[in-house]
Amino acid sequence: MTELLFDSSNDAILIMNLDGSICKINRAAKKLITQKGAAPEPQHILEVLPKISPNQLDEVIRALLFNEIPEQYLYSLDTSNGIVPISVQFSALKDPEKGIAGFSASMRKITATEQVANKAQALLETAPDAMVVINGHGQIVLINAQTEKLFGYLKNELMGKKVEILVPNQFLKNHKNHRDSYIKDPKPRSLGLGHELLGKRKNGSTFPVEISLSPLKTDDDSLFVSAAIRDISYRKRAENKFKGLLESAPDAMVIVNKDGIIQLVNNQVKNIFGYEKAELEGKKVETLIPNKYRNNHANHRHSFFKAPKTRPMGAGLELLGLRKNGEEFPVEISISPLEMDDNILVSAAIRDITERKAAETSLKEFNRQLQSKNKELEQFAYIASHDLQEPLRTITGFANIISEQYSHSFDQIGHRSMKYIIDASNRMSQLIKGLLDYSRLGRNREIKMVDCTKLLREIQNDLVLLLKSTNGTLKYGNLPSVKGNEVELRLLLQNLISNGIKFRRPKEKPHIEVSAEYDKQGWIFAVKDNGIGIPKQYQKRVFLLFQRLHERGEYEGTGIGLAHCQKIVDAHGGQIWLKSDNDQGSTFFFQLPHK
Ligand code: ADP
Repeated sequence: MTELLFDSSNDAILIMNLDGSICKINRAAKKLITQKGAAPEPQHILEVLPKISPNQLDEVIRALLFNEIPEQYLYSLDTSNGIVPISVQFSALKDPEKGIAGFSASMRKITATEQVANKAQALLETAPDAMVVINGHGQIVLINAQTEKLFGYLKNELMGKKVEILVPNQFLKNHKNHRDSYIKDPKPRSLGLGHELLGKRKNGSTFPVEISLSPLKTDDDSLFVSAAIRDISYRKRAENKFKGLLESAPDAMVIVNKDGIIQLVNNQVKNIFGYEKAELEGKKVETLIPNKYRNNHANHRHSFFKAPKTRPMGAGLELLGLRKNGEEFPVEISISPLEMDDNILVSAAIRDITERKAAETSLKEFNRQLQSKNKELEQFAYIASHDLQEPLRTITGFANIISEQYSHSFDQIGHRSMKYIIDASNRMSQLIKGLLDYSRLGRNREIKMVDCTKLLREIQNDLVLLLKSTNGTLKYGNLPSVKGNEVELRLLLQNLISNGIKFRRPKEKPHIEVSAEYDKQGWIFAVKDNGIGIPKQYQKRVFLLFQRLHERGEYEGTGIGLAHCQKIVDAHGGQIWLKSDNDQGSTFFFQLPHK
């Protein structure tokens, strides 16, 4: 009975002793091993399978003795019908008494499909991606070692299973439909463009993947699909980091490829341009540019990609953006190259400067108005003071005549009134002269290098009487030469020095000291006195026109001197300020910039 079974088996079976000598061959085997030129009755297994070396056979026998099951041999048998690919499985023959007494070789022709699979397996192992081959029913028929590693399954846990074992639950519903429609129209394609694909590991966790599919047809026309699966967790993480950075930028960020196609934008784009992200990604960047600049922009883009480097765009030009609602608006753009996956992209940071432009424009307008008002005011002061001088001179002249020629007819009240008239008109004349000088300042100015030591020497000469009468001293060291208008600088220093003398403490000799210190921005001059000082709350006010802190009876003056000083320093592009402690005197500083 066993004999009968043995002989009628479809598999070719040979039975050997432990030395490899053949004991029995069944019918199928005899049929299969009809070899070209071989002996009709082979004695030894190596005669049947001459491509197996004696050493290899020894190893097989040793494995069998150790109760191991050797791997299947893939063998090409040279038969009279040509080469026949077969698989050979060796197994031990156990005898209850003698133990392992011999072994069998069971040989099977490999079908066309199996042949493809075997070839494919070898190929699959060389692929860097996880490779999964499924048949028309969606069953996994082949995987490579990378698949085991990536998904955490062993080969035998996947073979024959539906491919959906690797698909996360949320995608299961559609997956079978996708698979069916792919099999109806199979061609190589990448999955997952535009949406996230995930794979599912044995432990249930998921990870982002990129998949490409290709159909495989065997000789017998059965269809298989191979899927190359790549874990893109690392890339996703980098992408996410990059997106985070992009979102943290205060400006609208637009990333464009060489062809001007927008690859990525951040959320700020919506605020500035009014487009949703999805409306822009994949579109031409020229969507964001007014029509009239579009052609030129494409040319600029090409030349940027020829020599890409970070720079502001359109230096010195007014750049305009185009909102979704058609509105054009001023922008500032800086662009830099971005290397990504062998691809050069350009990232543009775009800032809406509508508000800044508006502020700039209104500031300009305000300045213009201010300048024109100032001019008008100066003109007015000039004309008024000039025209006032004439009638005043008449009043002073006649008052003097009356006081000189008719004083004898005056009583005491008449004398006193006359004196008031003359004092007041003298004073008014001083005021008018001061105003006139003030409004003349800044006209026809000659700018040259002015030697300040020399200037001080001249001022000292002019003030010699005043210094003598007050017992005052004026000290100065070596002062620099500065660029400026000599007449104005003389007036400036003279005003400050004579104020120092004028506002001295009662019963104290005035002492004035002028010095200058070099600073990066410009020379800083100091005029220091030991006078009455200026309370903090008035230190700004004294520079205004007609602002005085004292009664006329106390200290003479018009309140124009420091306003003059301020105007002169302004005209030189500098600054003037003071420091003062009531009992320490005052120091007036002014800075004259080098430029
Ligand atoms: P004027 O000297 O004609 O009064 P200024 O414009 O020169 O006008 O000065 C304005 C006011 O500032 C003065 O009236 C005085 O009160 C105060 N002031 C100016 N210089 C000094 C100084 N060196 N010490 C104290 N007070 C001063």
